Amino acid sequence: MPPHLSCIFCHSSGSSSVAHIVPESLGGKYSPIGRPGVTCDRCNQYFGQKVESKAVQSFPFSGYRLLQGVPSKKRRFIRMDTKLGEVEASGASGIIHLEPRNNQLRNLVERGRVCQFHLIAEVSESLAVVRMLLKIGLEQLGKHFYDVAVSDRVGEARAFARRPGRGDNWWCILCTEPSEILDTTAKDQFTIEITEHEGVLVSVMRLPGVTTIVPLEKRALAPTPGSLPEPHYRVIRATC
Ligand SMILES: [Zn+2]
Repeated sequence: MPPHLSCIFCHSSGSSSVAHIVPESLGGKYSPIGRPGVTCDRCNQYFGQKVESKAVQSFPFSGYRLLQGVPSKKRRFIRMDTKLGEVEASGASGIIHLEPRNNQLRNLVERGRVCQFHLIAEVSESLAVVRMLLKIGLEQLGKHFYDVAVSDRVGEARAFARRPGRGDNWWCILCTEPSEILDTTAKDQFTIEITEHEGVLVSVMRLPGVTTIVPLEKRALAPTPGSLPEPHYRVIRATC
């Protein structure tokens, strides 16, 4: 048996469980699998409970899960409270259940007078979202380039993901294309790519209609306002 790796976040060794790099409640069965031991079971559990569970409730992932109908590991679908009532993913891409808030609204919906609702595209949990993206990027890095993932080069990214200090900050770029989220033929187009941009390691995650870009090195500078084509591209800042 090959020796166990030590966890890139806490250095403990002995974990060999196979875990998804991306939470199943986001990627479903298409979630890429990590290399066993890169993240230990305890850290994985920590991320799942404290970081990922919040991040997948926040835009853009909430909207993605609602429109694509991706269930959680426990086969639960995302629900959201809206002015109209409660909406819930159905499990079928693009089909959403609506439980109108009251009989008056139910009436209007049944008569076809209300046939639209808007999702507010606001990242409500930016800290959890950025930490999750860092964890995903670092695990993907550790899968193929373990030595880099444990090196000082990405030390600040590891610290921000696992234990950010008060006042620490990070950023990512979010790109959304709502019409692509509903493209049912694109379900398995789920990729995480580690690239170097101007000498900085960057993790790019693509799900249908949602692309996130997060630098794995602190020295990377966020694009200046106006340099990205809004509203499809946005810089998301997270401060602990
Ligand atoms: Zn660990």
